[in-house]
Amino acid sequence: MELENKIKDPYKRPVISLRISITSRCNVNCLYCHHDGIMPQTEEMTADEIFRIAQVAREIGIRKIRLSGGEPLIRPDIVEIVEKISTMDFKDVSITTNGTLMERYAEKLVNAGLNRVNVSLDTLNPETYKFITTKNYLESAKNGIRAAAQAGMDPVKVNMVVMKDLNHEEIWDMFNFCKENNAVLQLIELLKTESCPDTEFIDQYHYEMEDLEEELAQAADKVKTRDFMQDRKKYYVDDGEIEIVKPMDNTEFCKNCTRLRITPDGKIKPCLLRNDNLVDIIGAIRRGEDMDELKKIFIDAIDNREPYYGGC
Ligand code: SAM
Repeated sequence: MELENKIKDPYKRPVISLRISITSRCNVNCLYCHHDGIMPQTEEMTADEIFRIAQVAREIGIRKIRLSGGEPLIRPDIVEIVEKISTMDFKDVSITTNGTLMERYAEKLVNAGLNRVNVSLDTLNPETYKFITTKNYLESAKNGIRAAAQAGMDPVKVNMVVMKDLNHEEIWDMFNFCKENNAVLQLIELLKTESCPDTEFIDQYHYEMEDLEEELAQAADKVKTRDFMQDRKKYYVDDGEIEIVKPMDNTEFCKNCTRLRITPDGKIKPCLLRNDNLVDIIGAIRRGEDMDELKKIFIDAIDNREPYYGGC
């Protein structure tokens, strides 16, 4: 099986993907945002430094790269970054974005080698969008989803964080919008981490997904469980797809975690939920260390990976 050859941590978890946060800056301001577990910072890596990190990742056997942030499309050199990374034979290169700038970049990104995209959109209601993001960019986000699908990104996934009394009744409207636009809906449970700006907001709007899972199971023609993706369930309903992203604060999440992260200022982050075990790699790149030394830093970080909630 393909996973057998992958680099593994001491808990036998293969490390398959790297999520690079290329900026902390964002053009919206979601009240619940956990910034991918990274405390906001001002320093950013250059396109060449991001490329070098991807090269090292590829050398040690990582197969997938996802660019995130902050808002990755806010960087004027986003197409150049994707172009450089795509010169290597990654299985896929993807972006997570709020979609508001996607219409401008979709074709260029596909031509640069971007395969797939996740667009975060929680609502189709302008007032709810403004409340959650503090901005009026709903139409741009919707156009971004359409543009991504038209440009050939496949799949286009729409990340919807489900919030009680805010958008939980919009799930089927979102599903229909996704179906009309060749996108897959991903329902995400609202999560509280130390990097969330407003924990009261999260307590107030947290929505338990169990009832919803029941409803989806009944509506679905078929249900699949995805391996090595936190055992995510995928529901096939009326020629459309809905995935549920389970809460991250549990042992199942740790057991199935195959991902490393890079912070905007160039540190390896072995765990979404910890910031006390970051490993500096950008310093070594800036000192001009060779590939063997850079690989060693990555491998050491993987050797020190520990499951936050245990269970492995
Ligand atoms: N700006 C990009 C975007 O909007 O997709 C990338 C960064 S954003 C932090 C990445 C993903 O994390 C989004 O899909 C967002 O909905 C999700 N997210 C952020 N905070 C969250 C929270 N507290 N609970 C669950 N998901 C969250």
